[in-house]
Amino acid sequence: MPPSGLELPGGKGVPLERLRRGNDWDYSKRMRYIFAPPPHAAVRIVGSTGWFPVHRIYCVARNYPDHAQEMGSSGREPPFFFMKPPDAVLSVNEGETGVLRYPTLTRELHHEVELVVALREGGTNLTPADVERCIYGYAVGLDMTRRDLQSEAKKLGRPWCIAKAFDRSAPVGGLTPAAWIDDISKIEITLEVNGVRRQHGRVRDLIWSIPEIIAHLSTAWELKPGDLIFTGTPAGVGPVSLTDLMTARGTGLAELRVRVMRA
Ligand code: MN
Repeated sequence: MPPSGLELPGGKGVPLERLRRGNDWDYSKRMRYIFAPPPHAAVRIVGSTGWFPVHRIYCVARNYPDHAQEMGSSGREPPFFFMKPPDAVLSVNEGETGVLRYPTLTRELHHEVELVVALREGGTNLTPADVERCIYGYAVGLDMTRRDLQSEAKKLGRPWCIAKAFDRSAPVGGLTPAAWIDDISKIEITLEVNGVRRQHGRVRDLIWSIPEIIAHLSTAWELKPGDLIFTGTPAGVGPVSLTDLMTARGTGLAELRVRVMRA
């Protein structure tokens, strides 16, 4: 029997040369799923009934000097990344309050307010000059973290998934199209818990700028339309408890409100 590459449930195989071309071949027209695929993760868009389909969620660690310091680093170390699964996103429409069930396995659930960049185009080895056409828009988001599990993982040299990539660990406010924002370097992000200011950061203070982050990411992965990038958190990360209300704001962006509830 000739090599046929991948055998599909439909019977005929995918020709090998198509597999070799990479993962950009559209299987969907021939593929018969054995059960209904789960709904696609998506984020609301400000002033629109449309949804932004989420492909991947990339996160940058230690990207504000004051937070890098509180986490024990110094200087301009190369950016490093982790990911959350797309369905970790918790999309909260402007004017509504999202519900975050207190996650299992932790006694130290931390907030990290971040500017989120949403891509409408991608690519590999992008230059900072390519980046502008790739950006669809911006939102405020929360990189929720099981800090106790993250500290343990760091100590033991283990992966961060269980600390960072749990279900609903990525609340995101409504996306604001980039065209509505005249100067992103003027954006300031804040987080209040029960009305008390916990975090404040200015996008112009990012250690790695947004074009630099996107260019850097695109050397490691092929970026795609639908990618979300959490760009890092300023100082002031801390715990939240049951019934706490988190309010995240970014200049010119939709407010994000999330309440922590019993699991
Ligand atoms: Mn973070």
